[in-house]
Amino acid sequence: MFKKILIANRGEIALRVMRTCEDMDIATVAIYSEADRLSPHVRYADEAYLLGPPPAKQSYLRFDAIIDAVKKSGAEAIHPGYGFLAENADFAEACEKAGVTFIGPSARMIREMGDKLSARRLMEKAGVPIVPGATVEAASLDEMKRTAKKIGYPVLMKPSGGGGGKGMHVVHKEEEIEHVMKMAASEAASSFGKSVVYLEKYLSPVRHIELQVLRDNHGNAIHLGERECSVQRRHQKIIEESPSVAVTPAIRKKLIDAGLAAVEAVNYSGVGTCEFLLTATGDVYFLEMNTRLQVEHTVTEMVTGLDLVEEQILVADNHKLRHKQSDIKWNGWAIECRISAEDPYNNFMPSPGLIALLSEPGGPGVRVDSGVSRGFEIPVFYDPLIAKLITWGRDRDQAIRRMGRALRDYKILGIQNNIPFLQAVIQHKKFASGDIHTKFLDENPDLFQELPKQSAQFAAIAATLIEHQSKAGAAKNGGGKNGAKTGSASLWKSAAIGQIWDRPWR
Ligand code: ADP
Repeated sequence: MFKKILIANRGEIALRVMRTCEDMDIATVAIYSEADRLSPHVRYADEAYLLGPPPAKQSYLRFDAIIDAVKKSGAEAIHPGYGFLAENADFAEACEKAGVTFIGPSARMIREMGDKLSARRLMEKAGVPIVPGATVEAASLDEMKRTAKKIGYPVLMKPSGGGGGKGMHVVHKEEEIEHVMKMAASEAASSFGKSVVYLEKYLSPVRHIELQVLRDNHGNAIHLGERECSVQRRHQKIIEESPSVAVTPAIRKKLIDAGLAAVEAVNYSGVGTCEFLLTATGDVYFLEMNTRLQVEHTVTEMVTGLDLVEEQILVADNHKLRHKQSDIKWNGWAIECRISAEDPYNNFMPSPGLIALLSEPGGPGVRVDSGVSRGFEIPVFYDPLIAKLITWGRDRDQAIRRMGRALRDYKILGIQNNIPFLQAVIQHKKFASGDIHTKFLDENPDLFQELPKQSAQFAAIAATLIEHQSKAGAAKNGGGKNGAKTGSASLWKSAAIGQIWDRPWR
């Protein structure tokens, strides 16, 4: 078993991976940029290496500096988390060359599944139903038009090398194709390094359902059930759950058959996610495969009791799967909310800055995977996700109630965050009844109007706290072990912040 692992990531996912390493008695190595010197993931690790200046290109995306750190530290393996280099085949290759284990599938598998057109061809060959549309690049505008006609409008133009819900455009009629194609191709070239775009049938209404799979290097594969990720904003997931209210035993069988055929077809290794679209008539279409740990893996962990990072590490170390399919039992319901430093009162603009006060929820059925702490300054350079809040309940209703309580108990002062918005979604009657689809947020504008009013008094108190905290030097030392006894905490009390912001929904 590995004795030391370098975690090539930052924030909540770096901490999440380190915690499992700690459970497995594996030493941890952090890497960090100049903006993350005081980041909790750096403080948590057994050792840490500076990569360079804050922009990701000069730090978290630098192969050379990361391989250098792994050599200096003597770590035998690299866990990439998600994002950054997690699905970068060249990086997986660089690790191999340096004699370090990349905790994830091989470069070949990442390449095959990372390109949407290549993945669609592979899946079609394996008998997996794919969203109707192209499987090769269109040779000309005319061919693109012919494909669109064959599929039937509306169609969705997608970048083949895309990710993160970016660069997709709905095309309603033939006259729009030329313009959208030019725009989408240049967008794809600048965002993803290649300009290839293709067409799929635009399905609506539709649910995003995915299957968690796990396969070892010896040909054993199991699935860990489905997750529903239909609550999205701009094609990006905000709330996820497991299981899904929409998945009947017959639909689940389709997902499992397709997902397991997919991993078999590429001789997959490690944890992976097969994403599908589920139509109102119960049809399931393969969307793409993510060859890494997903942000939302936690809901699967909560209902299966497994630690997916532990399973990843074991597979990477060539172990056979410890579990047979019949060993996997699902218990209850889990929901995850992505807590972001984004301002729901200002079109979800990123809201970096100093976390003046932080009080995370707890109690029965609550898990917080956080990447921040009080006194930490959220940098402008990276993804605004600051934590994942997960609740478990014996059924969906209890998981929702606990999420409501946990969101009310979650206090972050100093930066704007999306908690008020998440509260509005969680208590929306359509969410409660499971009547959701990928356009749920767009079609329910009341969700944006019903946000609790921001209190001017609250903003003033936050400002005072920040001023007080920077004077006390707490920002520099990250709060310290005796943080609870600092002036900020007493200010929290004396300002009676709880009374101002607590329980806006009652
Ligand atoms: P990315 O890799 O950029 O995340 P995906 O292909 O995984 O892109 O799709 C992300 C989201 O975009 C889906 O969850 C869904 O909401 C929407 N989407 C993608 N393809 C289609 C489609 N053919 N029809 C309708 N919605 C789609």
